[in-house]
Amino acid sequence: MFQLKNYINGELVPPASIQYIDNFEPATGKIYAQIPRSDKADIDKAVASAKAAFPAWSKMRTEERSAIIMKLSDLIEENLDRLAEAESRDNGKPLWLAKSVDIPRARDNFGFFGTAIKHFASESHRTGEGLINFTTRTPIGVAGCVSPWNLPLYLFSWKVAPALAAGNTVVAKPSEVTPMTAYLLSELCIEAGFPKGVFNIVHGLGAEAGNAIVEHPDVPIISFTGGTSTGAHIARTAAPMFKKLSLELGGKNPNIIFDDCDFDKALKTTLNSSFANQGQICLCGSRIYIQRGIYEKFRDAFVDKVSKFKVGNPMADDSRMGAIVSEQHFEKVKSYIALAKEEGGTILTGGEAVQLDGEFAEGWYLRPTIIEGLDENCRTNQEEIFGPVVTIQPFDTEEEALALANSTGYGLASTIWTQDISKAHRMADTIKAGIVWVNCWLVRDLRTPFGGMKNSGVGREGGWEALKFFTEAKNICIKY
Ligand code: NAD
Repeated sequence: MFQLKNYINGELVPPASIQYIDNFEPATGKIYAQIPRSDKADIDKAVASAKAAFPAWSKMRTEERSAIIMKLSDLIEENLDRLAEAESRDNGKPLWLAKSVDIPRARDNFGFFGTAIKHFASESHRTGEGLINFTTRTPIGVAGCVSPWNLPLYLFSWKVAPALAAGNTVVAKPSEVTPMTAYLLSELCIEAGFPKGVFNIVHGLGAEAGNAIVEHPDVPIISFTGGTSTGAHIARTAAPMFKKLSLELGGKNPNIIFDDCDFDKALKTTLNSSFANQGQICLCGSRIYIQRGIYEKFRDAFVDKVSKFKVGNPMADDSRMGAIVSEQHFEKVKSYIALAKEEGGTILTGGEAVQLDGEFAEGWYLRPTIIEGLDENCRTNQEEIFGPVVTIQPFDTEEEALALANSTGYGLASTIWTQDISKAHRMADTIKAGIVWVNCWLVRDLRTPFGGMKNSGVGREGGWEALKFFTEAKNICIKY
């Protein structure tokens, strides 16, 4: 059985405990690799090596740091097919999706921050005659980065790239559910020529390896993406230690479709925004609100298209959807479908597992599911399901749509479909979400602030926001 290794102090090493966790292939439900079950001893080693590497890395000329990060970006491009296959196998997502979105985006994350750091500037103010204020932005130290399983290399690189570009050294932990591409990345880091200890990748469970990063006194800055309850736990540990903290958490995003939308475009995009990556994207819209005038027409067309989705082998080109990431998550999503029925919902399509044949017979496949007849206060509409399950509900007025959109504790993303520009602005202005898409979805510009309000997180990633987060501002006032 293939055993992954940790990447510590520039080398691929087994965990100190020599304990491993099974790594499953969602498409077959079978174990296909083993992951280091790292603990505090491994994290201590990784943090010590990152701390030792910090002075040289943080003082290195920006161009030299950038060149190493750009080399890693190039190596991801050279290994795109291999990485995409690994991502699809580890996560269950369709190979075409990993090839067209996940891995290109991981490449671009390093490329974006590798160049952004060369343009990152701080301010200077002439306060008066003989008085000048200027601000320096310096790297902080060892950054702890913890990422989830849904977009494994994409989100992992989204954190570590700005942390490294800004001059921090890094101890990062990918999700134990999908560790493979981060492991392959560690091989590429050696090839890219990262100095020893600058970038460390440690595998293991959240409660063990993850917690050891968050608790470590020599890790003053934490960037976390994952579930809201994990985020709350991390905040409880990190806040009394006054660590700098960025939390990108769960969502329950509304999709608001007005009568005056471009019907075909709204329908086509809603198919994606509901079920891309088996609905396991924090930005997927899971509550679809449709204005009464087009409710039935939209519902029927939506149900018709979704009922024809092919769910199957993630490696097959014609699989629109692949497998759910793990048995535990598969059971969780099914339990929410059962809950929706108990709460009085009607399943319009889906609602059940898909039984495939042969080697895929034990895989975790679910039909995309659309539920009608639930109000906004029920648990199905309040709690994050994070799978191929959406609810639909009609509304009459703009005020009602806004109230529905803002009716959960989350505030990550939202989508509005209308041809009325004033209405779009009014909605976008008042909706409580960090990201609003009007007449589109998942259009990403890496310069924009990314993050959520309310229970969806604290802080923003992306562009200058990320480089500001990963640096400490100091203002120096000089009288001359
Ligand atoms: P999770 O919170 O279970 O785990 C995320 C990461 O945290 C994993 O690496 C895990 O090992 C680690 N972890 C778990 N407990 C920890 C602890 N006590 N201390 C330190 N680390 C710990 O989340 P998940 O199930 O992997 O991912 C799904 C969640 O992530 C969903 O809620 C989804 O909405 C959210 N998510 C949010 C964004 C965003 O940008 N806001 C993006 C993707 C996913």
